[in-house]
Amino acid sequence: MDGASYQRFPRVKIRDMKDDYLKFELRDTDASMANALRRVMLVEVPTIAIDLVEIESNSSVLNDEFIAHRLGLIPLTSERAMGMRFSRDCDACDGDGQCEYCSVEFHLNVKCTSDQTLDVTSADLRSSDDRVVPIDVAGRGSYSNAFEASEQRGIIIVKLRRGQELRLRAIARKGIGKDHAKWSPAATVTFMYEPEIHINEDLMETLSLEEKQEWVESCPTRVFGIDPNTQQVVVVDAEAYTYDDEVIKKAEAMGKSGLVEIYAKEDSFIFTVESTGAIKASQMVINAIEVLKQKLDAVRPSLDTEEADEQFGELNQHMRGGAM
Ligand SMILES: [Zn+2]
Repeated sequence: MDGASYQRFPRVKIRDMKDDYLKFELRDTDASMANALRRVMLVEVPTIAIDLVEIESNSSVLNDEFIAHRLGLIPLTSERAMGMRFSRDCDACDGDGQCEYCSVEFHLNVKCTSDQTLDVTSADLRSSDDRVVPIDVAGRGSYSNAFEASEQRGIIIVKLRRGQELRLRAIARKGIGKDHAKWSPAATVTFMYEPEIHINEDLMETLSLEEKQEWVESCPTRVFGIDPNTQQVVVVDAEAYTYDDEVIKKAEAMGKSGLVEIYAKEDSFIFTVESTGAIKASQMVINAIEVLKQKLDAVRPSLDTEEADEQFGELNQHMRGGAM
């Protein structure tokens, strides 16, 4: 990369990646971009969730609306969502929202015939599309962890006693968190400004070892430490700093103001992304960039956005590279 593009394009570096967790650095950009990315991940990256429930028979203790609400909150594997249509825009079914382009059908049919209480769970949902299933069902054998650890089979919808039954048809649709939180793929999306910390070494050397120790311990999040060999104060974990100013106040109280200078780098961000499991955390970021691009496309006619497009293209490429 040459010097010019180094300046112009945001850079992404993956630090830690699991299916449902991603930590990455976003550099050479500003807070507006970081915040746009965060907000899009939370409320505009689409997933698939149950949106219509037709109860055929329900003799359980929960009323129909309660069951419909619980069904809506079950995370479904949503890799398909980006390619699906929103039912309101679907011309194949005229907005009916029940065709193969904009919906997935589920059936559930459970009856309790024994004296033992029967758990009706997400594992009882039969999907018309094997790519769109409850995440705990999809994870069986491959990548789910939390559900396997507990010995339950799936997410409990309702419990049935002898003679009670639940029979229904449900339609899952593509949606976004802005419309209803059940469609948000994000459990958490946060970012922090990367702190830049400068210790005034000359001033620090005027402190005794005990004073250094006292100052180091005034930081509630263990940002600093003392090198056992040189007895110098060093930064052990800059990112643990929470901008609480405790060490700065402590230095002032000790009559050593200016002992340390800490400021937030305004062009570097550290993101932590956790997914509900509907899509992988890395996919959530890639899809968010895609959604941002589409939003920019909508305003393109009135702007010369060639440059912005290049920027996002570059960012997208980084994410794909990192996701491999
Ligand atoms: Zn349709």
